[in-house]
Order: sequence, then C-alpha cells, then structure tokens
Amino acid sequence: MSLRDIVTLPDPVLRQVSKPVERVDSEARKLWDDMLETMYDAPGIGLAAVQVGVPTRMLIVDLAKEGEERKPLFVANPLITWSSEAQSDYEEGCLSIPEFYEMVSRPSEIKLSYVGWQGEAQELHATGLLATCLQHEIDHLNGVLFIDHISRLKRERVIKKFAKAQKLGKL
Ligand code: ZN
Repeated sequence: MSLRDIVTLPDPVLRQVSKPVERVDSEARKLWDDMLETMYDAPGIGLAAVQVGVPTRMLIVDLAKEGEERKPLFVANPLITWSSEAQSDYEEGCLSIPEFYEMVSRPSEIKLSYVGWQGEAQELHATGLLATCLQHEIDHLNGVLFIDHISRLKRERVIKKFAKAQKLGKL
C-alpha cells in the first residue's frame, strides 16, 4: 500500500464524471488499498478514486472510530436503486475541501447495488451516517461535491476562498 496525494478544490479533476470499472482485478484492488491507506492517514471516513486523481467509479467507506476495529467497505460501480423520501441532515466535510463543514440534507436511507472486492455483485441497504457517506462519495463519481447541496452564497464563498489559497500557494 502507498499513500497518494489527495486532490483539493479547485482542481478540475473533481468535476469529471468517473468511468465505470471494467474489471475488479489486482490493479483495481491496489488502488483500493492505496485509497484506504490515504483515507486512514488523512483521516477521513470516505474517499472516491477521483479524489486521488483517478476518475474511475470506485470508492471506500469506513465509519469505524479511532480505536475501533476497521471495517472498510470497498465499492465499485455503485448504483442507487432506491432512496427514501425521508431526509436526514448531517454536517458534512470532504478531504478535497479541507476544514470546511456544512449541514447537508439527503435521503435518510438508500439501497445500493455495487461490485465488491472480489468482483462480486453486492447489494446494501444503508441508513444513518453510512447512507449519507455513500451518497457523498457517489456524488464524487459524478463530479458533484457536497458544496453543491448548500446555498449558492456559501458555495461561492468557499470556492473563492480555495481559488485564492491556490493562487497564493503558487506565488
Ligand atoms: Zn468528499
């Protein structure tokens, strides 16, 4: 496993629509492993491949708290097959938008079909934080960021802030 660099706002790769994974092979599993190490190091609870600059439909989630046993969920080619009408609000953050947090409302429960670690078809009924986290990561695969779900004013403010920071970093 090796650490990869996390892409941050305003890098345009974050707005790309990721391509489906053709085969879950050793190369794909190597990417998942690297993503996992990168996410634990950050630390974070979810990471999409595009956040390490690889626009392919792969993500990982692990909600285990520090000190708890790690329980990574490896997801490729996810498809949300059902979303509840009921919504939940969570304060979200993103490793690609460091130190910025906002409340986001999303369906409280989802059903998901996806391809797992061995290339096997999987289904999952997710609720609570897991449902929110999966929706956040699946958004990434479609070039969507959590700031797209907040008010335009707040979104423009954070985009401006990161664009300015990037500019200053390049001087
Ligand atoms: Zn994110």
